[in-house]
Amino acid sequence: MPNSSALFPLSYELSRDRFRQNLIAAKERWPDAQLHSRRLDHPEDLTIDWISAPATRQSEKILILTTAEHGIEGYVGSAMMQLFIENDLQRLNPRNTGLLLVHTINPWGMKHMRRTNAHNVDLNRNFVLDSADLDASFNPQYRQLQSFFAPARPLPAIALARLQFAFGLARQALGVSAKTLRSAALLGQYHHQQGIHYGGDKFQEETRVLMSLYRQAFQSADQLLHLDMHTGWGPRYQMSLINSYLEQQSSAELRQRFDYPQIVAATGDEFYAMRGDMIDYVYLLRKKEFPHKRLYATSFEFGTYGARLVDEIRSLRATIIDNQLYWHSAPSRRTQEWVAREFRELFYPQEKKWQAKALQDAHRAFNGILRAEGFIRTRWG
Ligand SMILES: [Zn+2]
Repeated sequence: MPNSSALFPLSYELSRDRFRQNLIAAKERWPDAQLHSRRLDHPEDLTIDWISAPATRQSEKILILTTAEHGIEGYVGSAMMQLFIENDLQRLNPRNTGLLLVHTINPWGMKHMRRTNAHNVDLNRNFVLDSADLDASFNPQYRQLQSFFAPARPLPAIALARLQFAFGLARQALGVSAKTLRSAALLGQYHHQQGIHYGGDKFQEETRVLMSLYRQAFQSADQLLHLDMHTGWGPRYQMSLINSYLEQQSSAELRQRFDYPQIVAATGDEFYAMRGDMIDYVYLLRKKEFPHKRLYATSFEFGTYGARLVDEIRSLRATIIDNQLYWHSAPSRRTQEWVAREFRELFYPQEKKWQAKALQDAHRAFNGILRAEGFIRTRWG
């Protein structure tokens, strides 16, 4: 297995160049493979790139790998994409298996080290089946907590910023439980454009591109396997598979089938609940338009800060101060650097040991899932 920190890219542009080069490798076994580059409606050179390839004989299965729905998470996502291409692509069967490899769903966020797109939309709250669900009255708890989640003032010096957050947290904790606070923050909201986890008031350009690709994928094959890359949640040094609440198989069942130790379902109990999740969307699309197709879709979540309460609080703080800095700035350069550091460590850890373990976990999960879903043969088979 390539076990090298060189897989982790230095910039969006370098990551994209490397991805585009992969067309050559794909063409060796899928001669009709194509590279697509969709430029966003934005002055910068920002593109969603994907390699698609039909099965060469009879289309039965399609393998979908997507990264950077949450921009900044795309650096780790890109490393995993490259790991997959260098290591697992050759194990698939081009005669019955097609490909859809998406380099960056949210290139603006990846380039600018943010989770959202250029319109402050968390794309993983924007994938609803019906745009009427982008509903401003959803999640009223957020509205009550809005001044804590998104203070409308510049960020002060680091010590004071820490204190203000701690004070705000303590004050909120008097009124609502930690559980309510967490779910109000993470559920998504559709009314506060400068807020956190804002899901947008319409389908975003990036969302539309992906929705159309998913529909094409369902039309092209009977069986879909979709793996989407994320970072930031869960125990440090451990990647978790996060299943949709719509997946029928239980986490325990899948741990055994995939021979992978850490699998949870995206429910309030095991993970957190949200609206507009992309993996949920793929399941809902299947249910509505392609009920006879076989689907397994999941997210790889690479834990960064950790899973203790103190880690979750630090993660909430990083989300809040990053958003506050973006909208209201900070007079001190040291504060700006602190925020950038906190945010980067939450979504793109630099520690070599962390990166090596992340590759190891992804390798194991790719192997277990591809095997269980019938995309590669078993070792002795
Ligand atoms: Zn994410």
